[in-house]
Amino acid sequence: MKIIAILIALSLVKIGFAADSETDRLKPALDAITADGLLAHIKMLASDEFEGRAPGSKGEELSIKYIADQFKTIGLIPGNPDGTYFQEVPLAGIKSAPTASFVVGEQKMALNYPDDYVASSARLQEQIKVDNSDIVFVGYGIVAPEYGWNDYKDVDVRGKTLLMLINDPPIPDAKDPGKLDDKMFGGRAMTYYGRWSYKYEIAAKKGAAAAVIIHETEPAAYPYSVVRTSWSKENFELDTPDKNAGAVSVRSWITLDVAKKLLADSGQDFDALKKSAISKDFRPVALKAKANFEIKQELRTFKSHNVIAKLEGSDPKWKDEYVIFSAHWDHLGKHPELSGDQIFNGAVDNASGVATLISLGRAFTKVNPSPKRSLLFMATTAEEAGLLGAKYYALHPLYPLMKTLADINIDSMNVWGKTRDVEDTSFGMSTLDDALAKRAQAQGRRQHLSRR
Ligand SMILES: [Zn+2]
Repeated sequence: MKIIAILIALSLVKIGFAADSETDRLKPALDAITADGLLAHIKMLASDEFEGRAPGSKGEELSIKYIADQFKTIGLIPGNPDGTYFQEVPLAGIKSAPTASFVVGEQKMALNYPDDYVASSARLQEQIKVDNSDIVFVGYGIVAPEYGWNDYKDVDVRGKTLLMLINDPPIPDAKDPGKLDDKMFGGRAMTYYGRWSYKYEIAAKKGAAAAVIIHETEPAAYPYSVVRTSWSKENFELDTPDKNAGAVSVRSWITLDVAKKLLADSGQDFDALKKSAISKDFRPVALKAKANFEIKQELRTFKSHNVIAKLEGSDPKWKDEYVIFSAHWDHLGKHPELSGDQIFNGAVDNASGVATLISLGRAFTKVNPSPKRSLLFMATTAEEAGLLGAKYYALHPLYPLMKTLADINIDSMNVWGKTRDVEDTSFGMSTLDDALAKRAQAQGRRQHLSRR
């Protein structure tokens, strides 16, 4: 509850309340948020009837109707200027059936799907083929001018298969080698350069044919079983006019064992290569190996939806500025490998976030005077598939992004009870830090600063 209270208080400060008598003004809003109220929304959204809330399923229909009905009941107006609570998001569902092999010299290394690797394409094509493509180890595969970092140097990797490490380079602190250098790639925290989405984006930019990420549990932050499950089910992409022709043809993960064997067969050593990759001087290493991929893809296109509501700002001067509260409504749907009813109910991730979004919307309607700036409450689709609903909104905003000051996103609420600490994972990115620090202090709580 306290975390929610902080969120609200923080937001109210940001949207133009004076510091004095703040608590009095917030009281009706805070009182409107109750554990029972939150739980009722969570129980509904996470119920079996909603089938795990997969985009494009019956679960979507039920979810977006429920959320829109709640927004309406609360008294929030439609957030889409077309007079509805919905923003259509064109999506494509892709089911990939890959075959793949590596060839080292004359030796063919057959790969078992999905135990050894996964492979798919964001391109909306029924057939993807990469033949006899040279494999190049590119370290972390990062180009980051702000850190003076370029893993590719002058090497042309067009048409090649890039073999990459997950996460970003852990650079030791020169003064204290037991620690990581906070000034390089956020120290212990993972920057965007460390994520798989970045790896596939930079591979496309470089004109590579395929990008293969070596899975390691600790730097990835999850075991290979998660990779296997999430990439072997139906995945989603935005259905763009160019059918994602700009995406890298093949995006793949392989297990650490497979990577070690491939490298050993090519006369290289994984640990030595990994070590060499933690340096600005790293250069791509061409392996004496080739990659083959053939992927058959089952495609379907459909319209999914972001749900959006608005609370108009009360100040004529400021109401054309916006603060967004967002939470993704989707979850993983059903999966045949899951035991029992095969439903990923997603109560925490992210029925709890949507319940909070609805409760926040309700709370803000109880604040008098009403916030000066306009607030948008947005439940986004297809987050689990790569933040697609949010991405679509950013590409097709309903209100000018230049006038949108902040998006406070809620992904899985604390369900463990009261906590003393507040973690500020976007520390250093905006003045919201100060507002959060102030409220945390007022509640006798400790603010942890970190960066993701
Ligand atoms: Zn989530």
